[in-house]
Amino acid sequence: KLFNEVQELKGNIRVYCRVRPFLSGQDKKSTTVDYIGENGELLISNPFKQGKDGHRMFKFNKVFSPFASQAEVFSDIQPLIRSVLDGFNVCIFAYGQTGSGKTYTMSGPSTSKQDWGVNYRALNDLFDISLSRRNAFSYEVGVQMVEIYNEQANRAVGSTALNERSSRSHSILTVHVRGLDVKNKSTSRGCLHLIDLAGSERVERSEATGDRLKEAQHINKSLSALGDVIFALAQKNAHVPYRNSKLTQVLQSSLGGQAKTLMFVQINPDVESYSETISTLKFAERVS
Ligand code: ADP
Ligand code: MG
Repeated sequence: KLFNEVQELKGNIRVYCRVRPFLSGQDKKSTTVDYIGENGELLISNPFKQGKDGHRMFKFNKVFSPFASQAEVFSDIQPLIRSVLDGFNVCIFAYGQTGSGKTYTMSGPSTSKQDWGVNYRALNDLFDISLSRRNAFSYEVGVQMVEIYNEQANRAVGSTALNERSSRSHSILTVHVRGLDVKNKSTSRGCLHLIDLAGSERVERSEATGDRLKEAQHINKSLSALGDVIFALAQKNAHVPYRNSKLTQVLQSSLGGQAKTLMFVQINPDVESYSETISTLKFAERVS
């Protein structure tokens, strides 16, 4: 109950951090993650500094350790997903640098059931629940996949093209649900957006030219526009700047108002990712 009240105050925005494990071949000793608390604390150590200045504490609604399973992560967000059947709009984002586990969290590493990410589990759960309620409700479910690349919304992208540029585009899986209460004939509409964002890493101007630079600028623009929108919602500002990017325009009706927003902030614990990790966590801290 207290948790719900806190959420109310924050405009229905919650931020979960997920730390991915070291992959085989990576040196496990070179981690930046010092401590993960049960109440959402995350202590990051700076590999370039010793002593007490070498640490920084962050606090989120929850932090998932590298050992958290896909099922564990999903069970935490299941009530949020089910609220779509009751007419709520829900947005779930994965934010982080390329290689931090966004696609792992949203899609999963394979299509075998224990590997399923949020997308498959959410659809599966929505179908299960609507079947179990079929005596009282009739549900219509529509699913759409949209990719935003360089500020353009492209539908039906070929799978090769999608893989090639997946780290530089936002992919949005949208599930529309219309429920008819059979007895009193009332209808409800809910919408679930599941978003695997483009990699948040900063690209040095000197390193990028031409198309690569253009992509980087578009990604930068849309992620900061997203941050600004969520920040404005969290602050309950009267003006919410939806119009500054294609991403926030597409999601406008599902961000704010009665809508619920969850951001997975993905972390690669390797020391080499330290500065990207800090900028990712600062982004998340601002919107939480
Ligand atoms: P992103 O989509 O952010 O670029 P990926 O989801 O592709 O990152 O993850 C990068 C690599 O790390 C992949 O090989 C993926 O399977 C692995 N990985 C990410 N998160 C986890 C996790 N929680 N458990 C095991 N492996 C993971
Ligand atoms: Mg990815």
